[in-house]
Amino acid sequence: MNPSSSTSAASPASTRAAAQGRPLVTPRTLTLACIVALALAWGWLPEFTVSVLSNIGLYALVAVGLVLLTGVGGMTSFGQAAFVGMGAYATAWICTSPTAAGWLGGFAGSALVPWAGLLLGLVATFLLAWALGAVTLKLSGHYLPLCTIAWGLSLYFLLGNMEFLGGQTGITGVPPLVVAGFSLATPRKLGVVIWAVLLLALWAMHNLLDSREGRAIRALKGGRLMAESMGVDTARHRIKLFVLAALLAAVSGWLYAHMQRFVNPTPFNLNIGIEMLFMAVVGGAGHLWGAVLGATLITLLKEKLQDVLPALLGTSGNFEVVVFGLLMLFVLQRFADGLWPTLARLLSRWVRPVAKAVPEATAATGAPAQLAQLTQLAQRTLPASGTLVLQADDVSKRFGGLVANNAISMTLKAGEIHALIGPNGAGKSTFFNMISGVDDPSSGEVRLVGETMSGKPSRAFAARGLGRTFQHVRLLGQRSVVENVALGAHLRARRGWLAAALRLDRAEEAALMAEARRQIERCGLGAHADTPAASLSLGQQRVVEIARALAGQPSVLLLDEPAAGLRHLEKRALSVLLSQLRAEGLGILVVEHDMEFVMNLADRITVLEFGTVIATGTPAEVQANPRVLEAYLGGADDELLEDAR
Ligand code: ADP
Ligand code: MG
Repeated sequence: MNPSSSTSAASPASTRAAAQGRPLVTPRTLTLACIVALALAWGWLPEFTVSVLSNIGLYALVAVGLVLLTGVGGMTSFGQAAFVGMGAYATAWICTSPTAAGWLGGFAGSALVPWAGLLLGLVATFLLAWALGAVTLKLSGHYLPLCTIAWGLSLYFLLGNMEFLGGQTGITGVPPLVVAGFSLATPRKLGVVIWAVLLLALWAMHNLLDSREGRAIRALKGGRLMAESMGVDTARHRIKLFVLAALLAAVSGWLYAHMQRFVNPTPFNLNIGIEMLFMAVVGGAGHLWGAVLGATLITLLKEKLQDVLPALLGTSGNFEVVVFGLLMLFVLQRFADGLWPTLARLLSRWVRPVAKAVPEATAATGAPAQLAQLTQLAQRTLPASGTLVLQADDVSKRFGGLVANNAISMTLKAGEIHALIGPNGAGKSTFFNMISGVDDPSSGEVRLVGETMSGKPSRAFAARGLGRTFQHVRLLGQRSVVENVALGAHLRARRGWLAAALRLDRAEEAALMAEARRQIERCGLGAHADTPAASLSLGQQRVVEIARALAGQPSVLLLDEPAAGLRHLEKRALSVLLSQLRAEGLGILVVEHDMEFVMNLADRITVLEFGTVIATGTPAEVQANPRVLEAYLGGADDELLEDAR
């Protein structure tokens, strides 16, 4: 719960503010102050205000799920209102239907029945969301939002056409919630529960995002390729996120049914689903508190417009929808990231995010505290120097008629640097994909530390000890360097979503952070650990990717053009780092254009041309090889030729 977009590092603006001695509040204090103020005022607020606030709470609960789904996970859902409907109808039905009463036997009519309704709503939503997610989340691009519209509509019509759910008239006579003998029959009483649930959800989701699993969720937006290479099961994470958002919506529906005391299909139609998405997006798609902001703004705006417009225009009609649409256009044009970041910026004058204490373990490598922490993480014993760690046998890849890789065989040993070079279009990247599990060979076999990897996904390669970087840097630019690097250690920790949400993962999290900082130090970026990755130079970002790969304790390191974009000194530092890693027993395969860099560093070089290996040997042997000279002198790649001279 941190109004500064839950960035762990102090922003430059606030540091400045601190230096200038302006009055400062921490986000936590401000949040608590707001909650206390709301709690104190609650008893005195007018009836109408209380009911509006309760509605805001209900919407915000749904929007929190949408912020996670859309803003953080990159999946758009227009159909969230349908899940609210599931939650509402489940409890309305179980509380009123004679059939349900029969099931419940002696419990029928008791104060426990609404809780059975909650359970039924959650279970039904869970099953439905999982099934829908399994089908729709495989789709990408605009197909996913279109599909959510389709099932949003279907569920709405289903609710309206089921006889036992009261058809279009719905279900009346839903009883109030009773907690500990205390009936929550009015919005003033139930509103307290609504806001308590909302705040609890915000807390839990904030915790979730600030964890190993949270980093994996954020990585979904960075593209499946990157996340999978870090060992994240992206399909599973997407479904879990989708189900989580649906469950939050169902809880909102449950509360809604017991507030309204009746349900009908209207509040769960597609329009409302779209409005809920607006709330999340307008508030600030990637920020949990943006959900509350968005829900507040849009609920208030709707109320106001419904009052003002008919008076202004002299006729009644749903004109607010038109104005609403136009306003939306304006906001999205002007504030692409929603309003929360702007608000946070304005507040940053007075609100100082608490800089996370840097664990002392990072101060000195090998400190006892660090050792204690690191035992939390899975450790891999590196294979002995000289062991074959990566082996490609006759690997071929055909794209239609084009043979991009033609029966390539090569090996990589622990404790050696092997460079793969070749003119543009020679098939290096294709081969890289074959040996990292991104793509399957058309024929041939890849073995990683003795295990056949045919048909396995790249996260299996990561689990087996393969770390990699990308030719085009794939970092989460807005997140700090240390968070990016910690993602690399994903598979070395265990704690799941529930543990994270309840903050039971702190010891493991501290270990992950300590490990990430250790790798960052080792790669010489210690000074930048807490800055957003995007603010580093391209060369430094490449090094961050190496640190991220190292955090996974790989035995094989694949580097795709690591020296590209590096300045001279940076290249030297990189050479030193790679030599050191080699000495520690890593097997390193480098695809590189910079000949000077490769010739001075590599133990062995394999040269590709037109998908075929034309030479392999020590740098000296390769440089003297007539076929290699011809390949380069043949003018296939002038840039390489120049580098070679
Ligand atoms: P390099 O990385 O050595 O420059 P690539 O592996 O990217 O070469 O490409 C090798 C050849 O395979 C090129 O001719 C390229 O056009 C072709 N190729 C690469 N990927 C695909 C693909 N997905 N579909 C079709 N052809 C491809
Ligand atoms: Mg390439």
